Amino acid sequence: MKRVINFNAGPAAIPMEVLQKAQEEMLDWNGTGMSVMEVSHRSKEYEAMHNEAQDLFRRLAGMGPEWKILFLTGGASSQFFMLPMNYLFDGRKAAYIVTGHWGKAAIKEAKHFGPFDVITTENPDGTFTRIPKQEELKIDPAAVYAHMTSNNTIFGSQWHYWPEVGKVPLVCDMSSDIFSRPFPADKFSLIYAGAQKNLGPSGVTLVAIREDFYSLAQEQAKLPTMLSYRTHAENNSLYNTPPCFSIYILNLTLKWLLNTIGGLGNMQKINLEKARILYEAIDKSEGFYRGPVEKDSRSQMNVVFRLTTPEMEESFVKEAKAAGIVGVKGHRSTGGIRFSIYNANLVENVKKATDFMDEFRRKNR
Ligand SMILES: *Cc1c(COP(=O)(O)O)cnc(C)c1O
Repeated sequence: MKRVINFNAGPAAIPMEVLQKAQEEMLDWNGTGMSVMEVSHRSKEYEAMHNEAQDLFRRLAGMGPEWKILFLTGGASSQFFMLPMNYLFDGRKAAYIVTGHWGKAAIKEAKHFGPFDVITTENPDGTFTRIPKQEELKIDPAAVYAHMTSNNTIFGSQWHYWPEVGKVPLVCDMSSDIFSRPFPADKFSLIYAGAQKNLGPSGVTLVAIREDFYSLAQEQAKLPTMLSYRTHAENNSLYNTPPCFSIYILNLTLKWLLNTIGGLGNMQKINLEKARILYEAIDKSEGFYRGPVEKDSRSQMNVVFRLTTPEMEESFVKEAKAAGIVGVKGHRSTGGIRFSIYNANLVENVKKATDFMDEFRRKNR
């Protein structure tokens, strides 16, 4: 067996211990004589694991019982419409801070439901290379929520401060940096994240809603049942069959974060070190590697850079693969190179990648 260094952007690397544990338990999970995929979601064994995953999430996030933790399907992309569907009605207005591709995708869906203001850092050529400063964030105090994306997976930028939006409830798409660092939960009213970047496999989307904001959600009866947050909150995300296997891997990944890594503070230290090593390799390369993102907006999760020509980028991708490093091709909309260094990639993998970068530069400059 040969495991590669996996810098895929999502689905992405999962910690080895998690995969091994799942392998061990595959045929007989928890003494049931079945895999976790084969048990009833109404069984006490399943429900205990499901509830434990919620508790682990709360513990890591520093969220108390005032937070509802939902396990939904349809990816983070479904939250782009579910959020406005549940909150943007009856003449209410929202605000969107757009810092990349996914923020744009979110407003495309919000348009179906109600009005909103947009603050954007989009460049005239359609790229995004920075996070706005606090002074740029003029949010209408009447907005029912302000939506932001904490890490821009495709353009490779990330918020390094948490914005002040007054009394407006702050909603955050944390899909690509959730639990990569501690965050002040009390600053937010709703956060959501697809699991397949930092928390496990695709198939489950986490949505955490604080009680006071939950009370502003649309009545259940006015929405299709499955698209109402209330349906899932009232039924502990067991209204219908949940993505049991994805939730199980999520549970194991949260335990890994808590017990093996030692929590979000430690995870942040590791992630800072990884990003430092990679950006240093870019910055010392005398223009051979060029990062387009402004330095103070650089992402610690998705490190994006370009080489001098598309041909050089192509051979970089090819040679990386030959060296056992996969998933480094930039998003199809932007080109270039992207290393997604989510939680499961520890410092050792990043060091091997920069050794490869140095070697490639020496051979091709
Ligand atoms: C990947 C990603 C999405 C889309 O997630 P899906 O689960 O594929 O719908 C949305 N927002 C951000 C920030 C992402 O990184």
